[in-house]
Amino acid sequence: EDNLSWSAEEPKDKLLGGLLDAGFNERSCFSRYQSALYRKELLHKPSSYLLSKLRNYEALHKRCGPYTESYNRTLKQLQLGQHMEQSDCNYLVWISFSGLGNRILTLASAFLYAILTNRVLLVDPGADMPDLFCEPFPEVSWLLPLDFPLKNQFNSFDQKSPFCYGKMLKNKTLTDSSWSILPPYVYLHLVHDYDDHDKMFFCNQDQSFLQKIPWLIIKTDNYFVPSLFLIPSFEQELSNLFPVKGTVFHFLGRYLFHPTNAVWGLITRYYQAYLAKADERIGIQIRVFDTGIGPFQHVLDQIIACTMKENLLPEINMGEPVVSSYGHQKSKAVLMTSLSAGYFEKVRNMYWEHPTVTGEVIGVYQPSHEEYQQTEKQNHNRKAWAEMYLLSLTDVLVTSSWSTFGYVAQGLGGLKPWILYKPENQTAPDPPCRRAMSMEPCFHAPPFYDCKAKKGVDTGALVPHVRHCEDMSWGLKLV
Ligand code: GDP
Repeated sequence: EDNLSWSAEEPKDKLLGGLLDAGFNERSCFSRYQSALYRKELLHKPSSYLLSKLRNYEALHKRCGPYTESYNRTLKQLQLGQHMEQSDCNYLVWISFSGLGNRILTLASAFLYAILTNRVLLVDPGADMPDLFCEPFPEVSWLLPLDFPLKNQFNSFDQKSPFCYGKMLKNKTLTDSSWSILPPYVYLHLVHDYDDHDKMFFCNQDQSFLQKIPWLIIKTDNYFVPSLFLIPSFEQELSNLFPVKGTVFHFLGRYLFHPTNAVWGLITRYYQAYLAKADERIGIQIRVFDTGIGPFQHVLDQIIACTMKENLLPEINMGEPVVSSYGHQKSKAVLMTSLSAGYFEKVRNMYWEHPTVTGEVIGVYQPSHEEYQQTEKQNHNRKAWAEMYLLSLTDVLVTSSWSTFGYVAQGLGGLKPWILYKPENQTAPDPPCRRAMSMEPCFHAPPFYDCKAKKGVDTGALVPHVRHCEDMSWGLKLV
């Protein structure tokens, strides 16, 4: 059945259950109100509390955003290098860092943290953020102004930077008498190589200290949301915002990330040409972290073993050259994404050279094969974003372990993927894959610290909704 119409028809729920404000200019960002045309209806509705918090956030952003009176006033404190008075607007500045999948996850994490702490989120545009994403908040930009005073230091911010929170704890700067006044800003280093001091960010006490700092600047490559659920002062609020815990990235992602018109063109043209007419769409995201040039036979074996065993794709008939059937045959479109073209070619040829045992017609497509990661190139990142989004439009999804690229697709799509286990020693694991517990991304570098008892603890065993990930035994995810 074809339930999509390509006429100028209005989608049923173009505001996504109230997540989106109705007042944006449509032409400046077609994806915002058209995305509902390409997707199934939301499985869960956002809570009315989440909707009211988003509206409050939008009002705050409008009052405090770039070049507002409050912004200019709070910026003065930064320029004078002094923290003078409690400011009516406090900020969280997100530094553009790491691959695109990582950036999408960290930006969602930062936004949630901003909501929880009444901060205004400002986004370092980096090389290409404005080229990839529309403005998510009405009227006032989320982009950090280019003349922001600390901007040229972002690249060099690390654990040794004087205002790095972990470093200040280590050096006891904050308890020192010279700091009877507070620092004008704090740099939060939440990159995967962070240490025990940096991880104190996840403690209640430290949060009450950070609350007093008008400018927080964050650099991270991790989806740190699961650990926010373990901070006592956020617990109640988070449970009100997300009665269904495993929907955090799904809702925040749908709210924040709207492809720009250039990227939306890539998405819609591809979808209409190759995916729209199929009876079912299957996404297969292949990300190989092994060194060496693929394609690898063991990865191909794993893809085939998983999709056959789980009945996602039909077996082929090796004996008969033709399986004749009459009338309408069910068609499946397989969307593959990978840096390499090798897996796609093998799967496509398999279904060309042999009939399926079910008589189903299988089309296999892959939009690009960029060969290697080229984070600084504009068209490369546009394609990466388009492919994550296209994967999110499928009905059934298979993803690779450890990949934030896959997490973005599953979260936006509201899909619980089959996750391909990470191959060890160049062999396909058995079983090849398993179904994810939830559509949430995995936090790859969580803290294992009990802030109250001041000792190590298994943070994946404290509450039923924060568990270890399917694809990374030490990671944490919401379920
Ligand atoms: P992760 O490394 O899998 O967690 O995902 P990231 O998105 O953070 O970084 C990987 C980067 O490599 C992407 O942003 C792309 O630039 C590139 N990349 C990896 N896989 C693909 C793919 O299937 N298609 C495209 N177009 N780019 C990819």
